[in-house]
Amino acid sequence: MHSEAVPVKPPPLWTILMLWLGGVLLGFSLGVCTAKEAEAHHQGPIFPIPRSLFTQELEFEATGEWWWYYRQDCSGGNIYNDIQGAFLDTMWRYNILMPEGDPSDGRISQANISTCAAAFAAACGSEAVACVGSDYPGYPRNCDAKYNGPYMATFYSFDSRKSVPKHELQHCMTRRAEDYDDDRTDGTDYLRCIPSGSIMGCGPNAPKDYTAFDDAVFYAEHFPQSFTGGVLVDENVFYGSSDTRTTRLAVYIRIYSGYTFWSGQVVDDVCGNPGVCGAFALSLPLGPCTDVLLGSENGLPGSWGRGLQRVGGTSC
Ligand SMILES: [Zn+2]
Repeated sequence: MHSEAVPVKPPPLWTILMLWLGGVLLGFSLGVCTAKEAEAHHQGPIFPIPRSLFTQELEFEATGEWWWYYRQDCSGGNIYNDIQGAFLDTMWRYNILMPEGDPSDGRISQANISTCAAAFAAACGSEAVACVGSDYPGYPRNCDAKYNGPYMATFYSFDSRKSVPKHELQHCMTRRAEDYDDDRTDGTDYLRCIPSGSIMGCGPNAPKDYTAFDDAVFYAEHFPQSFTGGVLVDENVFYGSSDTRTTRLAVYIRIYSGYTFWSGQVVDDVCGNPGVCGAFALSLPLGPCTDVLLGSENGLPGSWGRGLQRVGGTSC
């Protein structure tokens, strides 16, 4: 008889986002999860989900700000310092703004909810420590993270506790999938920690903070990777297509000495179509021996002034 894997209805995507940081818990054993039903396959470092559905990520790239707030639903499990600490670490590491905001002020803001018992299990499953995207309309358009607060508060170190919100954040901020074996149909029918060099791993040897690998993914995900070409014609710039990481073109000037500076002009009307996308007039008159360059940028300071493309210049 030829046996096939039993077909099972795939669970909602958010269930594969459950964080399994076995090694950060006291007295924690992976054995407790082996009875669970099959889960979705491990899908590689980045989820194959259209970028356009990651609404808070897109807002973050346009504005340079990732808003969040904390809520505690149970009397125990105050993990505010851990959540705040995770955001402060992330903010300093990537030179971005992560303001703590009021959920009612109308902007996209990521909820970080400490909950417990049945309410937590209903959102994340009883075996998880945390999950993201369990609220309507689900991952990735909803980035709300829920934590088993009383449980997480028992983790032995501040770094361990902070690693949980960092891990959940990167599911939504950089489209990251788990960096552990969450495929229950590959011969190991349990979540299995594998060697990981990133915050998306699990187990006692998994990093408790962002690594050089996480940094590289962050930059590749958020900073423009292709640069708009263009041509200067009589102080008008005609420019080409941009990638999805670009939300504006910035106009730079290079004078005869090589000194390069931002002219103060930006063009928000970028497009992804091949060919000529648009044209604009320079806001500054050009002197002799002056070059015009275009930068593909977004709201993140680290994206500014990278990969400047010369589109033309004046004669000397
Ligand atoms: Zn996860």
